[in-house]
Amino acid sequence: MAKRDFYEVLGLAKNASEDEIKKAYRKLAMKYHPDRNPDNKEAEEQFKEVKEAYEMLTNPEKREAYDRYGHAGVDPNMGGGGFGGGAGGFGDAFGDIFGDIFGGGGRRGGGGGPQVYRGADLRYNLEITLEQAAHGYDTTIRVPAWDKCDTCNGSGAKPGTSPVTCTTCAGHGQVRMQQGFFSIQQTCPKCHGTGKIIPEPCPSCSGAGRIKRNKTLEVKIPAGIDNGMRIRSSGNGEPGTNGGPPGDLYVEIHIKQHAVFQREGDDLHCEMPISFAKAALGGEIEVPTLSGKVSFTVPEGTQSGKTFRLKGKGVKGVRSGYPGDLFCHVAVETPVKLTEKQKDLLREFERATTEGGAKHSPQSKGWMDKVKDFFE
Ligand SMILES: [Zn+2]
Ligand SMILES: [Zn+2]
Repeated sequence: MAKRDFYEVLGLAKNASEDEIKKAYRKLAMKYHPDRNPDNKEAEEQFKEVKEAYEMLTNPEKREAYDRYGHAGVDPNMGGGGFGGGAGGFGDAFGDIFGDIFGGGGRRGGGGGPQVYRGADLRYNLEITLEQAAHGYDTTIRVPAWDKCDTCNGSGAKPGTSPVTCTTCAGHGQVRMQQGFFSIQQTCPKCHGTGKIIPEPCPSCSGAGRIKRNKTLEVKIPAGIDNGMRIRSSGNGEPGTNGGPPGDLYVEIHIKQHAVFQREGDDLHCEMPISFAKAALGGEIEVPTLSGKVSFTVPEGTQSGKTFRLKGKGVKGVRSGYPGDLFCHVAVETPVKLTEKQKDLLREFERATTEGGAKHSPQSKGWMDKVKDFFE
């Protein structure tokens, strides 16, 4: 599921003070601590979530990155964020996936007034089958969405009270600090750039001004998508702060293991057991592909381990538009549970090939020659 907002995890407003973060953390950490919840997986997960939120939000640099870019700013797995993520690691289905992490969002430049923050990006892990990945797949997912809180009408303040202008920054959201000759503008540490302080938070939304609900989203997965690729759904992340733009939602594709095929890029591989007689005599075999069976002729004298390439029977590349190939790895099967009659036939066969000499088994002959050289 999508990663939850750190403030939401701790039940705090975006402008929570460091003290409030510490208090909320202590309370929740006590509640979900593994010592108090032995063998409770859910509590353990919640404990980890709370701990991560606390660690991120009490580190001023990370908190600022998170406020500006959301999870993309602090989660190295999200790529492209403010914290050494880099866009590597994930393939991007449409090339521009990381394009607007920095564009459009972020802080409103220049003068006074509260700061505008882009909402956090969210990630949704979607598991699909190899067939769905190869042929394309339309589905729907349930994702978090936020509505304005009815109780406080979005202000975050308890009804009957209202947010007050921050006295530290006089509502500008920024403060000037004198450092030597330089005057540096910084995010107000008291209100964290919102310009407002909520003395009594709304009980329905804990001061966030909005309530989380779920919504259904249609996802069109293009044919040929590969494991780890992500599809961006623009604007479906968390809402921004102070009128900032919302973050994006990233649907990350996880392809389930297939019973027959292994995928490597746009190529497919499969193992094909064939009988000892078929391998020796050659003949038609049926080969499975993602679009049904095809027949294929193996030549006389096919050895175990031989690979046949079926051109164009792989997966059509999501970017190239060209199909990969299917590689069939032949495994010659030694017959088992033979009847006396079948054994007699094989003994007769063995005598006949021995009489015929080494030409019937060049591999064995080559091997015997090496062994002889080795002992001489
Ligand atoms: Zn409210
Ligand atoms: Zn302030």
